[in-house]
Amino acid sequence: MAFAKRTAQATNESLHRIFTMAEAPDSTLGRIEQEMSQNLVGFLNNHIVASNNALTDIEQDFICPHIPEQPEFVSDHMHHLLDKLVAQSVHTASPSFIGHMTSALPAFILPLSKLMVGLNQNLVKVETSKAFTPLERQVLGMMHNLVYHKDDSFYHTWMHSAEHSLGAFCSGGTVANITALWVARNKLLKADGDFKGITRSGLFSALQHYDYQGLVILVSERGHYSLKKSADILGIGQDSVIAIETDENNKIDCQKLAQKCQQLQEKNIKILSIVGVAGTTETGNVDPLDKMADIAHQYQCHFHVDAAWGGATLLSNKHKYLLDGIERADSVTIDAHKQMYVPMGAGVVLFKDPSSVADIEHHAEYILRKGSKDLGSHTLEGSRPGMAMLLYASLHIISRPGYELLINQAIEKAQYFADIINKHEDFELITKPELCLLTYRYVPKAVHALLKRADEEQQSLLNELLGKLTEFIQKRQREDGRSFVSRTRIQVARYGGEKIIVFRVVLANPLTSKENLQDILTEQCLLAQESEKLLPQLLIAAKL
Ligand SMILES: *Cc1c(COP(=O)(O)O)cnc(C)c1O
Repeated sequence: MAFAKRTAQATNESLHRIFTMAEAPDSTLGRIEQEMSQNLVGFLNNHIVASNNALTDIEQDFICPHIPEQPEFVSDHMHHLLDKLVAQSVHTASPSFIGHMTSALPAFILPLSKLMVGLNQNLVKVETSKAFTPLERQVLGMMHNLVYHKDDSFYHTWMHSAEHSLGAFCSGGTVANITALWVARNKLLKADGDFKGITRSGLFSALQHYDYQGLVILVSERGHYSLKKSADILGIGQDSVIAIETDENNKIDCQKLAQKCQQLQEKNIKILSIVGVAGTTETGNVDPLDKMADIAHQYQCHFHVDAAWGGATLLSNKHKYLLDGIERADSVTIDAHKQMYVPMGAGVVLFKDPSSVADIEHHAEYILRKGSKDLGSHTLEGSRPGMAMLLYASLHIISRPGYELLINQAIEKAQYFADIINKHEDFELITKPELCLLTYRYVPKAVHALLKRADEEQQSLLNELLGKLTEFIQKRQREDGRSFVSRTRIQVARYGGEKIIVFRVVLANPLTSKENLQDILTEQCLLAQESEKLLPQLLIAAKL
């Protein structure tokens, strides 16, 4: 780990080194890595779900429901794993795998994870994590500081206080969002006079007591589906997540948001939370957080920011202004397992007010006693691993400037990709990157001009054909396994808000090069030629 030496500096070269497995310290892991690289072609081959109930080849390998009665030697079993599991896994670290938010990990994560698993500390209570608990509280402090910039005395006072918490570690953004809205709900419907609070009396009594006709969550139509899960679990129902329209840049329309708030108030429906998105999952855009904070303040409701993807942008001095206003949020979700390059299972929710967690506090007799510093008294999850250690290590080894390099480069790379898509006559950029996400689609040269001239009906027909072609290319590319982009359907303002099938790209892997990106476009053009019916159909339509 040359990067960690005394002279460590966050340079391109040092970052490249820690993301390549050249220094993998363990020969077994090295072998697994080699195995994965050799099998890169065809990696994504069989993971397509068969359309009927037939099993895929890989499913055939994992069909036996019997627990073995015969022990196996570890080395024999390793062999089995390499053949059946590793060789057929998705190579998420590949520089050409740019379809999802899961990418390469720094090499130092492997030995550290081994340490974490070996120590097997349980963060639910101090009795099983006496050093890890303070460490986790410190990491929460570091993340809290990144968002809220309080002074040192604030952190000295609250970081290790038994009844307070600056946030909670959890398995991911989903649980972080649920936790934030759980806090918001319990605070809103707290004990009051004879009413014992929602925690004890439930939602029905709470609504009766406070005389609300309902509770809703307001978020842009680009909000993550975990908010619907949250609404479901919190008992207010998925339909209570109200999607507010976005503008042509996929940002929430604040005028529409304010109008909705007013309407709801008139109907005596209480807003549980306004949720701002910092880095939408599909397009990577950031809502106008400062304006949203004003509206939340005006209507006296909780303001949560889902920065699961984009939160790490705060580490970049150059780009952090995009998230201005986040410091006014009552709670913030950040996934360390996305742009902070920690392995999966590392979500964080942060609270502006360290006493917020009082509203979700739970106690038990044998642990989580009143006055204990057990983290489990205010987390949704029970037993939890020491993931905070991996984030702690990453923050030290990569450091803030190192993260800034990673974030800035990812955004530059996305801008470069947008550029070459724009210049290419057979593609159309659909959403330009604000962070390192963008969407685009295949539009043959001949169709471009027609799309511009076409009336609404013709446009709609062309978009349908182009959608099928884009889907065809994406599936073929996935099957071939040389590279991978994902696909989604989004409403596009320039086509009258019609839903359009697009390629979606996330450029977070530091190993992805400009050549990789050029190759992906070349490959997609070749694949388009293989579409037997679709391309000719389009070209005929184009001549009409
Ligand atoms: C990824 C993501 C989530 C969900 O996080 P998980 O870690 O997958 O549970 C929520 N919101 C946004 C904006 C995300 O990008």
